[in-house]
Amino acid sequence: MLGGQNATPKRRLVPLAGASRFPYTCLAMARILKFLSGRKMTKNERVAAALKGDHVDTVPVSAWWHDFEREWSAADLAAATLEAYRKYDWDFIKVNPRASYFGEAFGAKYAPREGRQPDLIEPGISSAEHLPRIERQDGRSGAWAEQLEALRLIAAGLDDEAPFVQTIFSPLATMSRITGSTKYVQRLMKENPDELLATLQPIAETLAAYSKASLDAGAAGVFFATVEWGSADVISMEDYNRFARPFDLKVLEAVQGAPFNVVHVCRTNNHLSRLLDYPGIAAFHWAVHQQGNPSLSEIAAKTDRAVMGGVSQEETMTSGPPQGVSREAHAAIDETKGLRFFLAPGCSIDPMTPEANLRALVKAAR
Ligand SMILES: [Zn+2]
Repeated sequence: MLGGQNATPKRRLVPLAGASRFPYTCLAMARILKFLSGRKMTKNERVAAALKGDHVDTVPVSAWWHDFEREWSAADLAAATLEAYRKYDWDFIKVNPRASYFGEAFGAKYAPREGRQPDLIEPGISSAEHLPRIERQDGRSGAWAEQLEALRLIAAGLDDEAPFVQTIFSPLATMSRITGSTKYVQRLMKENPDELLATLQPIAETLAAYSKASLDAGAAGVFFATVEWGSADVISMEDYNRFARPFDLKVLEAVQGAPFNVVHVCRTNNHLSRLLDYPGIAAFHWAVHQQGNPSLSEIAAKTDRAVMGGVSQEETMTSGPPQGVSREAHAAIDETKGLRFFLAPGCSIDPMTPEANLRALVKAAR
């Protein structure tokens, strides 16, 4: 099993694309063959080796952003995703759908907005009395169906060339998209904690079913995003343990056995060090340069899972010169010795990020 060494798979193993043709256990042999033939590793071999902590020919690299105009249909999202993949030759893909669909699935209404995150038109929940309206869904119909179709199109376009992971917002982050307000969810924690807990249950069950469906549609794992709730600026660890952890685990338990589950802990002063025991995770991803966050080597010393990130998604990727991207990327590769490491910006990047900076990121890895 590639990820989640301490977990018993409850479902069929989902190999990295192409892994069945080149068994993971043969990677040592692959290196010898590569040495003899000068052959590059395939992307699937490279990702599998990086997850295991084996030598890689080049550090796997990727980046992702919103294409705000092309995230409103499965065909457009898949086309935008594959276009970026081909242009920059990523080693793996993090699918970056519109954030609002997690709320849309539970009745919130959002509208596209040029060059920006969607606008909330009407929340799915605007008072505590509405909370019981949230019911468990099958994770395959409604708003979920569109995203699953996008995954199938991406899988077809990739034809096993490289693994991709599907973004799954945590149940609490989904609650923020349903209500349209993090502050309102914080208020529910204080004023209606039991009702909120009862509502997070069907949300977690729905996301668990949807995560499984994403694997069936071809994803090598989930990219589990805590979004704003991974930060101590937004939630105390005590509240995290009560309102987030049990529901996070319900979702992650559904994808045990997938080889490439990533946990993304967003924002400043993050709670990452307290989430390293999450089961079945292949890699942890966060913004190492943001205030109060641990370094790559600090986390690498505490876990046998891979670490992902290394370049500041804001200052460096958006406005830094390409040399700045190169400098941060090389520093990250040196810090991790390029082992069990995935080079990427610390979060989704600005869609206006200069192409030269993205080219510098890829070049630093190769
Ligand atoms: Zn983030």
